[in-house]
Amino acid sequence: MTTWAPGTRPDDAVDARPHDDVAPDDAHDHRPGPAVGRSAAGGVLTVLDPSDGSTVGEIREADRDEVVEAVRRARAAQHDWERTPAADRGAQLHGAAAALREHAAELAALNQRETGKPFDDSLGGVLAGADTLRQYAELGPVHRGLSLVGGRESADFTIDQPRGVVAAITPWNDPVAVACGLIGAALVTGSTVVHKPSERCPHVGELLGRVLAETLPPDVLVTVSGGGGVGAALTEQPGVDAVAHVGSTATGRRIARMAALTGAHVVLENGGNDALIVDGDVDPVWAAEQAAIGSFANAGQICTSVERIFVHRDVAAAFVEALVAEAARRHDRLEMGPLVDARLRAEVQRQVDEAVADGATVEIGGTTPEGPGSWWPATVLTGCRPHMTIMQEETFGPVAPVQVVDDFDEALRLACHDRHGLAATVLTGSIAHANRALADLPVGTVKINAVFGGAPGGSAQPRGESGSGFGYGPELLDELTLTKVVHYGVPVLAADGGHQEVRGTSSAPLAAGDQVGGQDSAEAPHGAATTGTSTGRTRHPQEPAEGGDPDDTAHTGTGRGEDDAEPRVHPSSPAEGD
Ligand code: NAD
Repeated sequence: MTTWAPGTRPDDAVDARPHDDVAPDDAHDHRPGPAVGRSAAGGVLTVLDPSDGSTVGEIREADRDEVVEAVRRARAAQHDWERTPAADRGAQLHGAAAALREHAAELAALNQRETGKPFDDSLGGVLAGADTLRQYAELGPVHRGLSLVGGRESADFTIDQPRGVVAAITPWNDPVAVACGLIGAALVTGSTVVHKPSERCPHVGELLGRVLAETLPPDVLVTVSGGGGVGAALTEQPGVDAVAHVGSTATGRRIARMAALTGAHVVLENGGNDALIVDGDVDPVWAAEQAAIGSFANAGQICTSVERIFVHRDVAAAFVEALVAEAARRHDRLEMGPLVDARLRAEVQRQVDEAVADGATVEIGGTTPEGPGSWWPATVLTGCRPHMTIMQEETFGPVAPVQVVDDFDEALRLACHDRHGLAATVLTGSIAHANRALADLPVGTVKINAVFGGAPGGSAQPRGESGSGFGYGPELLDELTLTKVVHYGVPVLAADGGHQEVRGTSSAPLAAGDQVGGQDSAEAPHGAATTGTSTGRTRHPQEPAEGGDPDDTAHTGTGRGEDDAEPRVHPSSPAEGD
């Protein structure tokens, strides 16, 4: 029996089912698992350095009781955190951002060791995380509701309230920046967070949790380490009000299914299979640079990596030649890091081999190098076809699969034909083509003439298998809060020995028979009330009064002066200051 802290929903209970029933990967998920596989909660994670296979360290996974306890602690802390003024929460988030900057180099080095991401890129990710915290520190206190147009004497508006406890479940490919976005948006709006970092970089996750917690009240941010089993155990907790998952499509689908049982709100930012269209009128060398950045940055391990290339026949030969040169330049190991682990590398190799067996040509790269670590060369494939796995699945490796098309129409049609819906890029000199792409591509983000480099704070809803909801930007504040609509009507207060209606102060002209004065109004028949009734029900100004003459209600004012607008209070009501 677990005792829940104040604020816990009354139906909260611990799900005591054993947790080693995490489903195997879905058919569409070829993502490798952690070093220890998708173990049940309570195991040990061994993290290997992907550059040489050496051991970075071991971390014990949280067991089920620890996951339950983490949620209980976060829920207990949420009560006071929600009552902390938003500006103070923002100030504390600024402190967390500053702490993160102080530890940036340490985190970046650890990130490089655990995931293979080159140090400068890792550092960039940590600093981006600090910037995101700062943005949310500023945005949170000015996150606002709406004023609505209701009755003249009523007030209608919305207020935003925290979700409660947010489970933030994050991936390894940009572990600090992604985590900081979810954590920052949740904390600044008054939720507390249980963060489950990726099992591929648990040391980064734990250090991040410690650094951010330095400036925060206890248990406002709790970190639980472990693999998919721990993530599932967290998702299943009835005390979790929202689950924000950034990761693979297959995991996102599992989380959505589990959250459907608890009623938790779900935000999913999942995998992509982004298309790049190279139109016939662009410089093929520039287009190849763009394609190389899109396919090879972070060794292709970015959710918005270029995964499919459709190049116009007129520029195809020059484009492929330049792209091969770009790939060759990246065979220098200083330029591009290894893949995160041997399992991902094996999956990339499998997809390439399958494509080649089906008629694709390896222009450069394509084979697993000898030696330690999980290195994989930048690879260019030509002769790719839409049915190939490499064109249908998110490869998540530095592979640029190219299909030559006859015209822009064919390229757009092929680009649109995909289960995912994250992003796409079009390189074209034609405004007409750009506009058609904007209109037709069924994705959250369309980029014209630049693969990367969008404005900070950009956020779109991914479509199809790429997820749902806003995972970034100011809109994430909306996702992680609950909007409440408030309607204020005019009260009817108890008066001496009877009831008194509080009347409005409309400037409508007096109608024949209207009384002026408090005593008169106190004695006025119920039918004279304008926005309230003796039953407390709000009545439409045009609605006939109960038992009254409809003519009496044809106006919205009572004709009383402003001074009469003060409600009278029943003698038994507590006096002000009591
Ligand atoms: P993943 O889904 O395997 O893991 C992400 C997190 O989910 C990890 O913390 C993991 O432990 C947890 N998890 C795994 N199984 C779970 C389960 N059954 N229940 C609950 N949690 C579970 O993804 P990954 O391999 O770490 O990350 C790579 C994927 O993330 C790619 O598909 C990439 O496109 C995607 N990604 C998307 C975005 C985006 O914004 N759309 C950003 C970064 C990465």
